[in-house]
Amino acid sequence: MIINTHFGEIPQSYLFSEVAERVRRFEQQQPDARVLRLGIGDVTRPLAPAVIGALHAAVDEQATTEGFQGYGPEAGYEFLREAIAAGEYGSIGVDVAPDEIFIGDGSKSDSANIQELFSETARVAVTDPVYPVYVDSNAMAGRLGSFDGERWTGLTYLPCDDANGYRPPLPAEPVELIYLCSPGNPTGTTMSRADLEEWVQYARRTGAVILFDVAYRAFITGDDVPRSIYEIEGADEVAIELGSFSKTAGFTGLRCSWTVVPKNLTRDGASLNAMWLRRQSTKFNGTPYIVQRAAEAVYSADGREQVQADVDYYLQNARLIRATLEQAGVSAVGGEHSPYVWFRCPSGMDSWAFFDVLLEQAQIVGTPGVGFGPTGAGHFRLSAFNTAEATREAAERLAKLLPTLV
Ligand code: PLP
Repeated sequence: MIINTHFGEIPQSYLFSEVAERVRRFEQQQPDARVLRLGIGDVTRPLAPAVIGALHAAVDEQATTEGFQGYGPEAGYEFLREAIAAGEYGSIGVDVAPDEIFIGDGSKSDSANIQELFSETARVAVTDPVYPVYVDSNAMAGRLGSFDGERWTGLTYLPCDDANGYRPPLPAEPVELIYLCSPGNPTGTTMSRADLEEWVQYARRTGAVILFDVAYRAFITGDDVPRSIYEIEGADEVAIELGSFSKTAGFTGLRCSWTVVPKNLTRDGASLNAMWLRRQSTKFNGTPYIVQRAAEAVYSADGREQVQADVDYYLQNARLIRATLEQAGVSAVGGEHSPYVWFRCPSGMDSWAFFDVLLEQAQIVGTPGVGFGPTGAGHFRLSAFNTAEATREAAERLAKLLPTLV
C-alpha cells in the first residue's frame, strides 16, 4: 500500500456541494425567483481603503531595486509580528512577544497543520458542532479511528446545544488536544472568562494542549467576552492561539493569519515554539510581502476605523436575523458577537427538511447544522455576510414564513 489509507475513511464532505446542487436545481425550476444567500461563510464587503492603499504602495515597491522583496522570513516580517503583538495583544493588556507570533496564509491551513506537532496517538477533543477542518485534518493524520456513519470512533465530542447553554463540557475521558473556538463557528456562541479559566485549569492539570481559534474575535463587542485565551492566567503554558484577517478585515481572498505559540509552552521537554518554527521553515515559504503590508495597515488609525465599520455592518445584519427569528418564536444563539446565528429548526424538522422549506417557500439559502457534527442535527445556521438590503429582505420573508411553521 503506498497511499495514506486514512483518506479513504473520511466521509465525502457533501455539505456545501449538496447545498449548491439543491440551489442550482431550484433556480432551474424557478428562474424568476430571487434567491437570497444567507449560507455563506465568506465576506462580501470590499477591502478597506487603508488596506488597498498599503497594497498599492507595496506593489509599487516591488518595481524598484531597493524595494523588491524575494523570499521573506518564514515566520513573517517583523513589522507585522510587532503590529499584531501591539494591536491584538498589547491593546488588551496581554503580553505576547513578536517572536511568539507566526504569520500564515490563513487559519484554515494553520489550524489544519498545527496537529503535526503532536503524537499520532494524541487523543483529540472537539466541540460538537464544529468547524470541520479540525476533524478532517486529524482524520487524515490517522488520529480518529474509523467513521461509523455518524461519528469517529477515536474522537472525543464535546456536545454543545441549548441543554448545556452551549458551554463545552470537560471531557469524560482523558484527552491531549482540545480545539476550542470563540466566537464559534457554526453556533456564534462565545466562551466566558469562567469557561476559559476552567479549560485552562483542566489543561494545566492534565498536560493537554488547547488550540484556541479566534478567527471571529473582531466581532466581540464590549468587555465581558475574552478576546484571547491569554487573558487567562497560566494559558501561555497550555494554549496555542489561531487568528485570521479573513473575517476581521475581509482578507478571505488576500490570505493572512497568525498563530501564537508561546515560548512557555513545552511538552516532553520540547519547545512547541521551536517545533512550529521548524515546521514552518521546512514546509512554508511565507505569506506574500504585499499581503503582510496590507495586514499591517489594518492596525493604522484609519485601518482600524474602517475595518470596524465593516464588522459593525455585518453585526447589524446578524442582530436583525436573530431578532426576526425570536419575534417568530424561534429561539436562537449567536449574532451578538458573531456573524452567525444558530437555532433549532422549527417543529422538530431535520436540518435538510428545513433547508428545503426555506429555499422553496422563502427563497432563502442557509446551512444545515448536521454538516457540522452529530449535535448539529436538527439545527440551522444563517450568516450575516450578505448585504444589508438582502438581509432586510430575507428578514421580511422569514417573518412571513416562520409563523406558519412554529
Ligand atoms: N477558523 C474558523 C472557525 C473559520 O470559520 C474559518 C473560516 O471560515 C477559518 C478558521 C479559516 O479562515 P481563513 O483560512 O480564511 O483564515
